[in-house]
Amino acid sequence: MDVGTGNGWCMDSVVPSTEVAERIGANWPLERVQALDAGCVARHYRYQDGGGWLGLISSVTEPFCAGCDRARLSAEGSLYTCLFASRGLDLKTALRAGADDTQLLGLILERWRVRDDRYSELRTLGTSPRTRVEMFHIGG
Ligand code: SF4
Repeated sequence: MDVGTGNGWCMDSVVPSTEVAERIGANWPLERVQALDAGCVARHYRYQDGGGWLGLISSVTEPFCAGCDRARLSAEGSLYTCLFASRGLDLKTALRAGADDTQLLGLILERWRVRDDRYSELRTLGTSPRTRVEMFHIGG
């Protein structure tokens, strides 16, 4: 994925997950199976020979921002509500000022309530922001 800015990611090199499934299935026939839970973002397949299963997460070619529940806390105490966000919510200042768990939870819930992150959808539209947090900065 194009997380951060330093990995040389290029849309032209992306292989859509449908093609990944087709290529694998051409050699080892697959069949779709239901997601393990309703919030699961992977599309699951089972090998028809019973040899196992695989899951494909199509965050680039089939964005799922509307149902996303990702959040990361950076080492500096900023809460990022999207892996591609430009900025996070500063929780460290509140923590250092003596905020208790309830107050911190309130800050987090309010941020979550107003978040409108949809980087992957905007990428598809060609309007995604150029500035984004580096993945190593938020863990991962
Ligand atoms: S681009 Fe951001 S909002 Fe969309 S799925 Fe990825 S982390 Fe979630």
